[in-house]
Amino acid sequence: MNKNSADQAFVRETNLSLVLRLIHTQSPLSRAQLAVITGLNKSTVSSLVDELLERTLVHETGVNSIGAGRPATLLEINPQAGHIIGVELGVDFVSVAITDFLGDIVWQQKENANPSDDQDKMISQTLQIVQHGIAEGKRKNYRFLGLGLATPGTVDLNDGVLIFAPNLHWRNVSFGRIFSEYTELKVYVENDANAAAIAEHSFGAATQCQDFLFVFAGVGIGGGLFLDGKLYRGRNGYAGEIGHFPIMAEPAQNICHCGNRGCWETYANQHSIIQRVQARLEQKRTSIIPAIMTEQNSPLTIPLIKQAADAGDIEALESFAEAGHAMGQGFAGLINIFNAEKIILGGPLSLAGEYLLPAIKESVARHTLPEIVQQAEVQLSLFGPDASLIGAAAIVADDVLSHPTIVSGK
Ligand SMILES: [Zn+2]
Repeated sequence: MNKNSADQAFVRETNLSLVLRLIHTQSPLSRAQLAVITGLNKSTVSSLVDELLERTLVHETGVNSIGAGRPATLLEINPQAGHIIGVELGVDFVSVAITDFLGDIVWQQKENANPSDDQDKMISQTLQIVQHGIAEGKRKNYRFLGLGLATPGTVDLNDGVLIFAPNLHWRNVSFGRIFSEYTELKVYVENDANAAAIAEHSFGAATQCQDFLFVFAGVGIGGGLFLDGKLYRGRNGYAGEIGHFPIMAEPAQNICHCGNRGCWETYANQHSIIQRVQARLEQKRTSIIPAIMTEQNSPLTIPLIKQAADAGDIEALESFAEAGHAMGQGFAGLINIFNAEKIILGGPLSLAGEYLLPAIKESVARHTLPEIVQQAEVQLSLFGPDASLIGAAAIVADDVLSHPTIVSGK
């Protein structure tokens, strides 16, 4: 290809991507509306839309007969344009899903994993589940667009290598190579909190947001930051380690997973809630929690505390509220720094979101600057515990939105 035709191909793909993304975020849209929004002339838009139809990325859906003028055919994304394999490697589980092009899960398999197992064992367990997914896809004639993998830790995106995951104690794992050799698909690897933020931006609560934060709360507290419509990674990809924001180091305080004292997450993570409940039980408060533990033969866990809260147990409710207040203080700091439009809470602790959220909102209202707080909204993720998994798939979909010619025609 000479330079001129290479330039033309680049412009064509850029315009295809522009139109495809608009249909993705604002559908249904007509060709005339696309021409107005993009500033491209109508015949260019028609030709671009024809190509997107040919590649089966969009389809026509009904007619817009509102208002004056000729009724216009509307366009929307074709969810069946292709399917995607999403993989989430958690600290103590692996989850694999097949989603359609719009991130809806059509098949999923989740298994517990033993964090003390060695790396190879956990990877081969994951590959086996992926194999089941691919077999399912073959049966249903799916066309796979790629495989996305979300993992805790820092990731080299270009080479698909997990550099370091402190919670897994893994270093330099070539996920990209391992999974692409096994599946012969293009593989994308991303940090789990970043993946979740991408899911919210592509398919979830933040499709219209330029500046928002996804907060992943569980064992620790991690974040994915979208600033000016782009995921912010920082100098070496470590941006978003919001849980380790030092609040105040006191000698009697819990040591954080990072080894320090005074990290914000030690006041608001899973363990802090369990500790708050334990402290209350030690004061011999009246609570149904010990009875539930005996009945289920279970240690104190977040789902168990949630169950007690559902039954109106005051100790459970107050423990969630205390942790919610601590969480909200951190959120307020983040809103003050980034002037974020939204903070979306996800991860395992979002299970107790209904009990955390009122306290979080109260704390945010109290500690955020008045000028900023009016525009900031705190809400729960629409994806429950699957935000990172759906995010893994969203990364593949996003690459197609950027490079529509990856997908061949009919
Ligand atoms: Zn820390």
